[in-house]
Amino acid sequence: MKKKIVDNLKRIRDDIADACARARRRPEDVRLIAVTKTVEPDIIRHVLELNLADLGEAKVQDLLQRHAIIEESIQRRSALAAADNAPPLPRPRWHMIGHLQRNKVKQLLPIVTLIHSVDSLRLAEEINTMAAKLGLDQKVKILLEVNTSQEKQKFGLAVGAVTAMADQIQTLPNLQLVGMMTMAPLTEDPQIPRFCFARLREIFEELRGTRVVGPEFKHLSMGMSQDYITAVEEGATLLRIGTALFQ
Ligand SMILES: *Cc1c(COP(=O)(O)O)cnc(C)c1O
Repeated sequence: MKKKIVDNLKRIRDDIADACARARRRPEDVRLIAVTKTVEPDIIRHVLELNLADLGEAKVQDLLQRHAIIEESIQRRSALAAADNAPPLPRPRWHMIGHLQRNKVKQLLPIVTLIHSVDSLRLAEEINTMAAKLGLDQKVKILLEVNTSQEKQKFGLAVGAVTAMADQIQTLPNLQLVGMMTMAPLTEDPQIPRFCFARLREIFEELRGTRVVGPEFKHLSMGMSQDYITAVEEGATLLRIGTALFQ
């Protein structure tokens, strides 16, 4: 399993480098988030040993559980490292990538690095309020999730609602809007994800041309195992990859 992950990682990084070359982008502007929702803590520790410290989970409960397990490993490892000269485990940056319910925000905020899935004003307001209550010392970084494929079963804001939403979010003092996220449909046709990613990029550029957002608005979270190459070609800065890394 470990060997397989190393091989997969190399392939994915090569793909990213090739796609960047085609799109005249810098590979260091594309960050890989390892989506660990299907793997055991042992594998998560291995991922950290490979210095992949950005980890994504789709459910708050899973994120909390894994965070607790990994924190314990880090403590244990740092005690051992002092004796053994073994390298310590890097501390993960946890990304919440799945649909977020308002009643889970309180538990999530103290440990999450970036919330990819803000898709309503009510959710944004809850995050803002809870950040104040918890006395967090930094603004909560969020992305707006946009439903670029317009599938009814998908979460995410309608394309036409994004600007107004971004505007309203700027009035919430404890949030920092750093970009947008989308999921393309699962399909064999590569043109469909390309259309979705290009659409997100277009909205992104439009917003950047206004005063609604500042220079911190710079992330496009798009691209999963089946479509990450297309996503890099279309400007992704954050890739959320599970299957291609672990299978
Ligand atoms: C599971 C998941 C991913 C990763 O999917 P893979 O196809 O396994 O790479 C990415 N984004 C979200 C929102 C997910 O839930």
